[in-house]
Amino acid sequence: MFNNSGKGRRTSAVDNGFAVFQNGNNGRNKERPSVPSSAAPAASALHFRGAMDNSTYPDDEDSDTDSEEESDVSGSDGEDTSWISWFCGLRGNEFFCEVDDEYIHDEFNLSGLSTQVPYYDYALDLILDVESPNDDLFTEEQNEIVESAAEMLYGLIHVRYILTSKGMNAMLEKCKNVDFGRCPRTYCSGQPCLPMGQSDVSRTSTVKIYCPKCEDIYYPRSKYQGNIDGAYFGTTFPHLFLMTYPQVKPAKPTQSYVPRIFGFKLHKSAR
Ligand SMILES: [Zn+2]
Repeated sequence: MFNNSGKGRRTSAVDNGFAVFQNGNNGRNKERPSVPSSAAPAASALHFRGAMDNSTYPDDEDSDTDSEEESDVSGSDGEDTSWISWFCGLRGNEFFCEVDDEYIHDEFNLSGLSTQVPYYDYALDLILDVESPNDDLFTEEQNEIVESAAEMLYGLIHVRYILTSKGMNAMLEKCKNVDFGRCPRTYCSGQPCLPMGQSDVSRTSTVKIYCPKCEDIYYPRSKYQGNIDGAYFGTTFPHLFLMTYPQVKPAKPTQSYVPRIFGFKLHKSAR
């Protein structure tokens, strides 16, 4: 349960001047399901619309289609939605699995994170839906900062969780669902990909997808997903995942593209 003190409301991380989170999930309108829609902030943050051309991908369903803000929230069964479910249901957060409460409650799993995340205690309370007596004392701006901090903290917990057997199993389910998108390379024939980061250091680069068939990495198709910090998935995940579930690893591609001019292959010297 959570209250309506405005915690769930924010417009964009840039607007609050908290530059540290600029690489984060700014640009999305986030409204917790329990907050009446009349209280929704202006959807001015939806400035990504129409920026991508997705017309040709098989997993195209809804990831970038223009839509009303309601579509940012899935599973909106009212006030029973936990912060974690709400967060993972936001548009662009499809790559995140839901981290077990139990894992977060074990302080050992969070060691070192309190120095990396501002407002750590408040952020942790928010993630775990713990109501704090201070909630009502926060200004709107402070609430936004705590919300940003919670997202960062969740990401830093997530990168650890997905390397545990439980987390990997959750990611396996998402992989089977093709939640991470497909390889854009024609000869990979729509191979489902895995999320990964090019660095384990926060705010270094955004999340990419790794294709286990061609063993290359690509930008995610959705710009919403493309704004997520790669450090929330890390450099290890896809490879440890494929070692853990070797049955998921596909055979190498059998075809590769050959450039031709008037049907003739190009001579080495001309390539
Ligand atoms: Zn591929």
